[in-house]
Amino acid sequence: MWPPGSFKVRYCLAPTYLALRRCLRLGVLMAKSKFEYVRNFEADDTCLPHCWVVVRLDGRSFHRFAEKHNFVKPNDSRALHLMTKCAQTVMEELEDIVIAYGQSDEYSFVFKQKSNWFKRRASKFMTHVASQFASSYVFYWRDYFEDQPLLYPPGFDGRVVLYPSNQTLKDYLSWRQADCHINNLYNTVYWTLIQQSGLTPEQAQERLKGTLAADKNEILFSQFNVNYNNEPPMYRKGTVLIWQKVDEVMTKEVKLPAEIEGKKMAVTRTRMRPVPLHCDIIGDAFWKEHPEILDENS
Ligand SMILES: [Mg+2]
Repeated sequence: MWPPGSFKVRYCLAPTYLALRRCLRLGVLMAKSKFEYVRNFEADDTCLPHCWVVVRLDGRSFHRFAEKHNFVKPNDSRALHLMTKCAQTVMEELEDIVIAYGQSDEYSFVFKQKSNWFKRRASKFMTHVASQFASSYVFYWRDYFEDQPLLYPPGFDGRVVLYPSNQTLKDYLSWRQADCHINNLYNTVYWTLIQQSGLTPEQAQERLKGTLAADKNEILFSQFNVNYNNEPPMYRKGTVLIWQKVDEVMTKEVKLPAEIEGKKMAVTRTRMRPVPLHCDIIGDAFWKEHPEILDENS
């Protein structure tokens, strides 16, 4: 019962020992309290096994947020780079994310089919992604918006969707990239009509009503000499984040036994990092080039 030692030591430790015993007794009582039954109200939200778990975040009222913070229209590269920085932080801090895709004010994160992170509880996946992303958005804001103060705290909603096969997962990501293309083509023409032709938002909207992609490309080309395909790939394709080996150069102090002062030396280390790409993920080429993403054992 008592720790070994002299009477003096035992005597001095007595109050601590009694307090510890009281705490333990209380702990036992609490674990078996009459309130314990409320645990049964917690719903089971375990994600189905063998499925890809996707968490998609979306900025809350980002239309207003973009206006208040003077985002450049139709695309603000600072805002897009900040979103990607947040997504990279999520991938580095959380476990088992194999690929992420983002555009506009949204980002999707794909967890390994066999991930057992937090016992696959959907609420854990979703809340960890959303909170890590939102805090990163505030934390890194100044790095991307040097002259624009953050006027109020942004928020992001999240959802979890399960995809039961590689094909459905690829179709999900294709859907988001197709959405990026449709919205960006529309926004590019819409804002060019306003900014370069002096149309009002209503007139620009009216001009684009019922037009197809080819019509929009034609307006850009014939009226404004803009070839849509030459617009930055980040705007047209969105951003894909995948793990790749990256050489990182860091300075390290090297000291030989005989030396008093160390020498600063550049050391190159290879590390896996979430690297941004702005490529097509709808076709097969991307998946053939990166088979490890869908490999269930990687
Ligand atoms: Mg939104």
